[in-house]
Amino acid sequence: MADIFLFFCEGLLYVAVMVALLHLRHLIGLGVFVAALGVLHFIETYLAAVIYVQVPVGFISPGSVVLFSGKLMMILLLYVKEDAATVRQPIYGLLAGNFLTVAFGLLLQQHVGLMTAGHRAADFAFIDEIGWLMIWGTLLLYLDSILIILMYEKIGRYLRGAPGIRFFICGATVLTFDQAGFYLALYLMNGAPAAVFWGGWIAKMVAALFYAVTLGGYLHFLRFAPVNDPDRKLGDIFNTLTFRERYEDLLSRSGRDTLTGVLDRSRFELMAPRLVRNAITSGNNVSLMMIDADHFKNINDRFGHLEGDQVLKSIASALSLGLRQTDHLFRYGGEEFVVVCEGLDPIHATSRANDILQLVTGSVLTPDHMPVTISIGVAGTPGDGETVNALLSAADERLYRAKKQGRNCVVGTVGP
Ligand code: GH3
Ligand code: MG
Ligand code: MG
Repeated sequence: MADIFLFFCEGLLYVAVMVALLHLRHLIGLGVFVAALGVLHFIETYLAAVIYVQVPVGFISPGSVVLFSGKLMMILLLYVKEDAATVRQPIYGLLAGNFLTVAFGLLLQQHVGLMTAGHRAADFAFIDEIGWLMIWGTLLLYLDSILIILMYEKIGRYLRGAPGIRFFICGATVLTFDQAGFYLALYLMNGAPAAVFWGGWIAKMVAALFYAVTLGGYLHFLRFAPVNDPDRKLGDIFNTLTFRERYEDLLSRSGRDTLTGVLDRSRFELMAPRLVRNAITSGNNVSLMMIDADHFKNINDRFGHLEGDQVLKSIASALSLGLRQTDHLFRYGGEEFVVVCEGLDPIHATSRANDILQLVTGSVLTPDHMPVTISIGVAGTPGDGETVNALLSAADERLYRAKKQGRNCVVGTVGP
């Protein structure tokens, strides 16, 4: 009986401190709550593996019952009070920290002169076991966290405004799933008897009830108003939790030049060799245009750098307009652009370069309405080489000739 009362006190202490840290996040920062969660995670793993207490339902560990169940509920509470983009931070932090712990455990054992303090003995078998259990537990925790949040949203469609009941249903379901997963590992590794499953399960259900009542009470006391959009699609939440939306956003944005919006130099380095290689191996042509704005320094000097930037943007837009689906425009340097034309031989590329030049000269104006001109050097396979560098240097050399010939012209290969 005294043990059960102690468990109750431990749960109360946990809720009181963790909820206070979360509640005060606008004052002290969210990092305090998250760091505390991480530190407790360490002792929880240790307790769950080593320290058990005998109660009427069997042997249970304060680590898994109070701290593990509590952690899941805290993750859910953080989601309720903030959003998916915030809660995924501790979820991924715990994942990274766990893997790092396992890696350290492995490295630690490689020390030759490893000593232990005083009368203690190092239990390497335990460290080893904790490693495997931790990898398994880590993956489970990751699934648990995502599951508990998605489920909370799902049942919210039917049980809006009853956070305590939702906390209990989600907590009980996910903790059951977790207990089954973790017991499976214990069974496979140590042949743990079924009583271990049932004892732990009953304890976790009691914990789910305890946390649902205390956290539900807290939210109720706050006159709970959900910050999350109740109509948000589950797929959206899943994408946010798993960082997919951030990743996709990054993919679509990275490689673009921030001023003109066209592909940037880094994207050129990535794409151009592949475009040239593909053309060569499939027996197609590929051409390259090197484009440089004429007397651009004058534009900057006369109208200022900011106006110069606007002109640069207009040049990029005009260039884009003149290109086809198979042409790729990159901002190569300051006011230099490169176009890689798939499937185009140098003769046709030269004629397309002339069209582009007309388009720019006819549409881009300086702030005092004078036409802005460009010069273009064109090179292509197979005559000018079969690598990006060969094409670049041939096009660059022709661009130089175009400048020498008086600018506002194309130097390339002229047809027969
Ligand atoms: P040329 O006809 O020989 O090419 O003359 P130019 O004045 O254009 O000479 P050059 O190509 O060597 O000079 C490029 C100038 O473009 C120098 C630099 O101040 C300007 N520039 C480069 N990047 C930017 C930019 O992002 N914004 C603005 N406003 N100017 C830039
Ligand atoms: Mg220039
Ligand atoms: Mg230049």
